[in-house]
Amino acid sequence: MAPSLSPPSAREQCVLRMVFTGTPGSPAVSPSRAGRRVWVPDTQECDMTASRSARERKAAAQAGPLARVKIDLDEHQQFVYKISCSECVARGHRSWSAYRPGGDNGFMAAMDRWIFHLNEKHPWADAPCLAFLPAAQQRLHERREQRGAEDEPRA
Ligand SMILES: [Zn+2]
Repeated sequence: MAPSLSPPSAREQCVLRMVFTGTPGSPAVSPSRAGRRVWVPDTQECDMTASRSARERKAAAQAGPLARVKIDLDEHQQFVYKISCSECVARGHRSWSAYRPGGDNGFMAAMDRWIFHLNEKHPWADAPCLAFLPAAQQRLHERREQRGAEDEPRA
């Protein structure tokens, strides 16, 4: 079930960088720490104004078929990322979702929560983002070190 990931376009590199290696301006996670699937673009030129629907499509593709990805705008015109699990809803369980406000950090946080949910509840799901579990775990570890246990995952 190894995801087949072809070399991304320039815009995809930008999105992948935001999702998996941090936001522009923050210290980049080195490829060795984040896993070999991380692409670091040659140029810092990133289209930060990628439309909400484009972000939604990209996130949905990475999150896999179980995910329902929705990006809203809050009252401050900030993106609010919501990823919910269609399978957990269909089974009649309490709906699982990750709901994180805030720019690209929110995007990353929601995707990380989703990766942890998949890993715990649907480890065989065909989701490209599962390839990034080690990187997500590393980020969780770093966030815990920075902010204590405040960011415990609630899968
Ligand atoms: Zn689920």
